Amino acid sequence: MPIRCSTLATVMGLACLPLISFAAELTPAQRLDSARAEQAAYLQTLKQLVDVDTGTGQAPGLKTVSQLLVQRLEALGAEVRTQSASPSAGDNIVGTFKGTGSRSFLLMVHYDTVFLPGTAAKRPFRVEGERAYGPGVADAKGGVAMILHALKLLQDERFDGFGTVTVLFNPDEETGSSGSKALIAELAREHDYVFSYEPPDTDAVTVATNGINALLLQVKGKSSHAGSAPEAGRNAAMELAHQLLQLKDLGDPGKGTTVNWTMLRAGDKRNIIPDSATAEADMRYSDPSESERVLADAQRLIRQPLIDGTETQVRLDKGRPPLAKNAGSQSLADTAQALYGQIDRRIEAIAMRFGTDAGYAYVPGSARPAVLETLGVVGAGLHAENEYIELSSIAPRLYLSVAMIRQLSTAAP
Ligand SMILES: [Zn+2]
Repeated sequence: MPIRCSTLATVMGLACLPLISFAAELTPAQRLDSARAEQAAYLQTLKQLVDVDTGTGQAPGLKTVSQLLVQRLEALGAEVRTQSASPSAGDNIVGTFKGTGSRSFLLMVHYDTVFLPGTAAKRPFRVEGERAYGPGVADAKGGVAMILHALKLLQDERFDGFGTVTVLFNPDEETGSSGSKALIAELAREHDYVFSYEPPDTDAVTVATNGINALLLQVKGKSSHAGSAPEAGRNAAMELAHQLLQLKDLGDPGKGTTVNWTMLRAGDKRNIIPDSATAEADMRYSDPSESERVLADAQRLIRQPLIDGTETQVRLDKGRPPLAKNAGSQSLADTAQALYGQIDRRIEAIAMRFGTDAGYAYVPGSARPAVLETLGVVGAGLHAENEYIELSSIAPRLYLSVAMIRQLSTAAP
């Protein structure tokens, strides 16, 4: 990042000393002013990002944006490496900034979107009133631009009191991060703090996110002619219906666990008693022990069949893990609230029902890293045509990232 004060420069009385003392004197109000002055450049970057389609799996657009992001990180002084996000299309981009301090930060967000090719041409980036619109403008290109411009502001302040700032941009979050989750987990464990830049829908930071699992139910029965010999069959569809009623309350509202049966399948022909039936449920949870609890409850309940001679099995496939409520995330939210207070604003600390990559960064039971989600720009209409960001949130949230990194770099461990 910035030029450091070498011994030689100090001896010669060169400009670095006054610059550093100037940086130390920047008040919160001045820092917010700098962030306001950065807003036009932020929007310029955001337009460049939004106007290229980067739906997950769309290799050409992901490549174009990846090249742009590498250039931008290098221009800020990062050492940048890219690696294939196989089995996903596109690259993971990792930029590293070395400072003079000891605390380390991972700033991460995805640059893929959910939109089909041609969407950016059909409805390109546009500013209208107090909002900006376009595919992925909030989720999460607004967050990508937030990281780049927060780093720019730190550089303008000539601040390098952190130990390391690592940036990770991944290309496959919208389909589950199969080609980036291992890297996220690995990098997260090397850092003190992880900031994830998904968009909040109000001025908030997120201290907990949901995990996502799939529950799969399979019933085996016996086929037979439904007209001439129904009694010789074992109806898997009827048994499935019975099992679903037994399994309808696997959720736990008190813990925020939901289990909803959403897909059912049985039978191929109307005149055949079906010999197999399957169902799938979507499970959301925030308490890591809930995966085991739900599976154990389901296994116990399915032992009470309706139809003798059928056989039922249940399986749980783990998806994105939760960012569980934890002291480290709460402490980061407290810091955010104190820093927002210094510019006479309030920021909420919330738990959200979505699952995000923050779940891969969080290490259950460990204080390190401390993970905070939704450092991105405030927006709504995610995954929809009317997706937008609130322009008024850009400056305060740029301020927040800069102030957090400065504050935590110098805080006592
Ligand atoms: Zn997202």
